[in-house]
Order: sequence, then structure tokens, then C-alpha cells
Amino acid sequence: MTRMTPLLERNEQFAGSYTPVALGLPAAQVLVVTCLDHRVDPAIFLGLQLGDAPVIRNAGGRVTQAVIDDLAYLAFLAGQLFGGQGAGGTLFEVAVIHHTQCGTGFLADSSFRHQAAETTGVPEAALEASAVVDPYITVKADVGRLLASPLLSPKVSVSGHVYDIATGRLATTLDARYP
Ligand SMILES: [Zn+2]
Repeated sequence: MTRMTPLLERNEQFAGSYTPVALGLPAAQVLVVTCLDHRVDPAIFLGLQLGDAPVIRNAGGRVTQAVIDDLAYLAFLAGQLFGGQGAGGTLFEVAVIHHTQCGTGFLADSSFRHQAAETTGVPEAALEASAVVDPYITVKADVGRLLASPLLSPKVSVSGHVYDIATGRLATTLDARYP
């Protein structure tokens, strides 16, 4: 008996009616970057099904170097496997989604951040860089960072959105753009 036991029972139910999906371009032609917050699950608020969209999640949904590296590889892989299949030779749109009430917001407070750095060993600058206080500001910064990266494939577009925890609504704040 572990805390996973009830979830394994749910998986048993899931597998009972499961149909595998072949590897292909994401059916929605979208890749989501968002926060790991358990109230912010894109499969649920965007109604994603298996095979619809890859999702990269970290604290805040920030466009870190690790996210950029993953996107570069995924674009390369998609180009190699399915190069000619996307509309007009494009591969997918990266939707960067930040949200209100983000737990990383506490990191904007210098004494909280200092204590977090001391306790966890994570550098204070890295903690500060992950803070989302105003999601409209950080999503704009992160879309800009991604569009400016030399690693971003020219066949990938980037858009920015804010998810409101209070209403469940997603608002597009930056329309999709190519680098
Ligand atoms: Zn968050």
C-alpha cells in the first residue's frame, strides 16, 4: 500500500479501454509550456486528448535554457520524422501559459527567496528568475526570450497566454509569431 495505490486502480480502469496512439505530429499542432501547479493542468483546461499536444511543465512555466533545449530537440525530431506533413512546412506552435496565483510569486520577496536558497541549495538568482508575480509581464518576457533564441526552429511559432485560476479562463495575450 502506497499513496499511489488508489491512482494505480484508476490506471487499471484507464488501461481497460485504452487505444494506443502512434507517434506523429501533435494532432493539435501545439506544444504547451506551463506551470507544474496541480491546479493548472492543460489536459483538463484545454481538453487535450492523447496525441494532441506535448506539454513541458516546470515551476512557473518559465522558458528556461532546459525548455529551449527540449524545444530545439523536439523541432529537430519532428522535422526528421514528419518534415513535409505540417501546413506550409511548419511544425507546431509553442503556447507559453503563465497563471494567476502562482506559487513562485513568493520568490519575489527577498527574505523568503534568501531562506529558500539557504535551505534548498538552489542559487538565489535561479529562484528569482523563476518568480511569476504578474503573469502578463512574465509571459511576455518568456515569449520574447524564446523568439530571440538562436536554437528556436524557424518552423515553430510562439504565442503567449494567461490562465486565470479564479475563472478557469485562458486569455491570449500574444498572438502566434515566428522568430
Ligand atoms: Zn504556478
